[in-house]
Amino acid sequence: MANGSEKGAAGATPTARARADVRQGVDPTSGLGELVAALPIGVYRTTPKGELLLGNRALAAIYGFDDIAALQAAARTGSLSWYVDPGRREAFVRLMDSWGEIDRLVSEVEALDGRRIWVSETARLVRDAEGAPLFYEGAIQDITDLLSVQRALRESERRFRDFAEIASDWFWEMDAELRFSYFSETLASEVGVEPKDLLGRGRLESAGASENDPHWRAHMEDLRERRPFYDFRYGFTRTDGRDIVISTSGVPVFDESGVFRGYRGVGSNVTEEARVQQSLQEAKLQAEFANRAKSEFIANVSHELRTPLNAILGFTDIMRDELFGPIGVPRYGRYLDDIHTSAAHLLSIINMILDLSKIESGKLEIDDAEIDPSACVEGAVELVRPMARGRGVEIVFAPDPAPPILRADERALRQMLLNLLSNAVKFSSADQTVDVVVGRDSATGEVDIRVIDRGAGIPADKIDLVTQPFGHSESSMSKSYEGSGLGLAITRRLIELHGGRLDIESDLGRGTTVRLVFPADRVRGA
Ligand code: ADP
Repeated sequence: MANGSEKGAAGATPTARARADVRQGVDPTSGLGELVAALPIGVYRTTPKGELLLGNRALAAIYGFDDIAALQAAARTGSLSWYVDPGRREAFVRLMDSWGEIDRLVSEVEALDGRRIWVSETARLVRDAEGAPLFYEGAIQDITDLLSVQRALRESERRFRDFAEIASDWFWEMDAELRFSYFSETLASEVGVEPKDLLGRGRLESAGASENDPHWRAHMEDLRERRPFYDFRYGFTRTDGRDIVISTSGVPVFDESGVFRGYRGVGSNVTEEARVQQSLQEAKLQAEFANRAKSEFIANVSHELRTPLNAILGFTDIMRDELFGPIGVPRYGRYLDDIHTSAAHLLSIINMILDLSKIESGKLEIDDAEIDPSACVEGAVELVRPMARGRGVEIVFAPDPAPPILRADERALRQMLLNLLSNAVKFSSADQTVDVVVGRDSATGEVDIRVIDRGAGIPADKIDLVTQPFGHSESSMSKSYEGSGLGLAITRRLIELHGGRLDIESDLGRGTTVRLVFPADRVRGA
């Protein structure tokens, strides 16, 4: 502590400051009283009976006075109240009698203005040479704010502890050296290890893992780079020998100045979930295998059926044309026509089944080429026109003069268009019109081909069904149209192979619009 004596003109900083103080009218040797007066802690001296002899401004403030003179005036009138619990005053006196001092005695007190505050008080009893009590002197600090902060902190700690105890997950913390420094109690029941057995251990050591395992190496890399990690899973053998799967997530913790302090996170036992996931995965693989086997079976059977059908078609053709001589009875001729029509129908169904099974077994690959969809539509319309004319239906298509170019499989696109056009014609009545429109959505960049009819329509609850294999909107009893129920199923899968979709909008009795939508990444230019 500076003693205030001047030590020459060497310009030592304390001396210079003292001179500055003198200039401002402050006597450097009598600063202690002022210092005490300015302390933020209440300081007092009282008689052994508690009458106030000295005090500073902070003491007055604790009592609710502006200055110490007002406090002293109040003290003289004996109106000073203090401890809320009168037993506190007795405790104070008793402690002073036996120990001569108290250290940070915390009490609730009532200031003169009725405010209740919490104070921490440190004081001692000063005696004369004969040992008789002279006065008490001490310091009082208002700790009300501090206590409420502490209380809130305790409350928040208790809340966290309650959550941690109830949760089936456990919480953990690691220090800056990546060693475990905390585990919540749940660890013991879920993992079968006492927290104390893992504290101080590193990540790899506590899991019995090694960085030779690439899974762990990547995880350790995350930790070294101070990256957060989510749902890191690893196998763990409990002390009772049971194998479990643990999932853990954590975030790096930095202090206010940005210095890395470690990690904090949560762990959970996901053994059951992992087991279910694995059996689902196995079931999925099995189902995929079974589905592939079924598709291969269908492909083989279809192939076997096609050979004799071709023979039936070929020979009925020869007989209908009476290539090697007349048939004789005309009725046989009509039978031959029926046999030929039925065989042709059967062949088309078998071909469709074969197409569908090829798509489903993943064997059909699309053969991309840059094509003009308008030209493709025109070609398909020409093929369907004779059938449409036979039913009195007109197909209208106005090709776009500047059509977009599509990257698509031309054969697949023709097949899709033929399916949609023949449906539209089949379900229209005489004198109705079918429109075909190629359009481009400027917002999404998608290109769509719309086939619009004004025919029978599809009930709203059947729209999903009709794109399933053998799905018809009419029951088989009332079915008045011939059809395999495979056309839309194949069309949907073909457009999906292009990354697009099949949209059906229909109004029963008013007509149907079917859209083939191609994604923007298959469209080039306009
Ligand atoms: P199908 O060979 O039976 O026409 P699709 O798969 O092409 O097979 O169509 C399935 C069913 O969807 C049809 O049987 C019909 O009930 C309904 N459908 C398809 N297109 C239309 C349409 N344009 N208008 C009314 N119903 C339709």
